[in-house]
Amino acid sequence: MGSAVAWHLARRGRRVVGLEQFEPGHDLGGSHGRSRIFRLAYGQDDYVRLAVEALPLWRALEDEAGVEILVQGGAIDHGSSVVLDRIGAAFARHGLEAALLGQAEAERRWAGFRFDGPVLYSPDGGRTDADAALFALQQRAAALGAEMRFSSPVRSVHVRGEGVVVETGGDTVEADVVVVTANAWLPKLLSGIVEVPPMRITQEQPAFFAPLDGAATWPSFIHYVGEGQLASDFAAYGVPSPAEGGVKVGEHGTGIEIDPDGERPPPDPVRIERLSDYVRLHLPGLNPDPSGISRCLYDMTADEDFVVDRVGRVVIGGGFSGHGFKFVPSVGRLLADLADGIPHQIGRFSARR
Ligand SMILES: Cc1cc2nc3c(=O)[nH]c(=O)nc-3n(C[C@H](O)[C@H](O)[C@H](O)COP(=O)(O)OP(=O)(O)OC[C@H]3O[C@@H](n4cnc5c(N)ncnc54)[C@H](O)[C@@H]3O)c2cc1C
Repeated sequence: MGSAVAWHLARRGRRVVGLEQFEPGHDLGGSHGRSRIFRLAYGQDDYVRLAVEALPLWRALEDEAGVEILVQGGAIDHGSSVVLDRIGAAFARHGLEAALLGQAEAERRWAGFRFDGPVLYSPDGGRTDADAALFALQQRAAALGAEMRFSSPVRSVHVRGEGVVVETGGDTVEADVVVVTANAWLPKLLSGIVEVPPMRITQEQPAFFAPLDGAATWPSFIHYVGEGQLASDFAAYGVPSPAEGGVKVGEHGTGIEIDPDGERPPPDPVRIERLSDYVRLHLPGLNPDPSGISRCLYDMTADEDFVVDRVGRVVIGGGFSGHGFKFVPSVGRLLADLADGIPHQIGRFSARR
């Protein structure tokens, strides 16, 4: 998110300094790895609009940086008919292409799956390459004049008169506005400065499973068991990730709660066994023994809505609750607008909720 804000503001000719505590390409936050689901399939219009806006912005970034980031191989939702109806209605409201397939037809089309009912298919969905996206955003922001400083941990943020003062290890940066997109570290960094909704920081651990038939096609997917689109309504999600050795499958929001500055626990074998059981039951086209495991942080708000707001001289982007990546360029645009003093009308993103 911070890299996307820097890209947008640098494109507008603003003077930007980006501060990152770790080195480029680190794997200690929420944005590393080669695969994230890209989907338009939300029941809430705010998210559908942001996903639709993100699509051409991803393409613009690809053109600017000369890299492939977004592959639209299709995305499916299955399980709860209540959720499928809600998503289907949103697709209709926004004039988006979608098809509802019967179980048998869907299993013919995606032989690696075992469904328990109809499947909603969205051809616009697919996957984004997170590592490629970050490289492109940071490279483009720097090329457009932003000063991107790595290994520069921010120790504190102070609001002073008509501006802000940001202390990093050994340096002070003075600016008109600060945009804080520190994900798992955000509550700590803003403590005593701006109140934000409570966030649970968890270490999630999706795993990679190799296809048994190399020719099979794998759309990105979400399997709903509940009637909402919250983490507790997910059975599992998945995204094809050829660069990571197969299909990434994960539980959503079931990770261990951690302190991001503390020791990172090793992957939990019980959760991995649960994923393998899920694969055996619902994804017979995959080898249930994982070929790899990833650890990655979520910053979960209670309602799983984002925090995208401005309070005085401080712009806040956080609480992306495990579903923010697809929106990176459009949320980046919202945050850049807020830095420029342009408010948005998305009430659910308020920091004061
Ligand atoms: C396992 C997993 C699967 C996911 N799957 C999907 C998916 O399929 N689709 C989707 O849309 N989204 C998905 N997401 C969510 C998405 O990846 C995140 O919402 C998004 O990457 C968050 O970006 P961010 O910039 O807020 O966080 P981060 O990338 O963590 O950025 C925060 C940065 O702030 C830096 N920082 C923190 N404190 C300081 C400090 N004091 N000084 C300097 N720098 C600091 C950190 O080092 C970090 O680099 C998934 C997330 C995970 C973890």
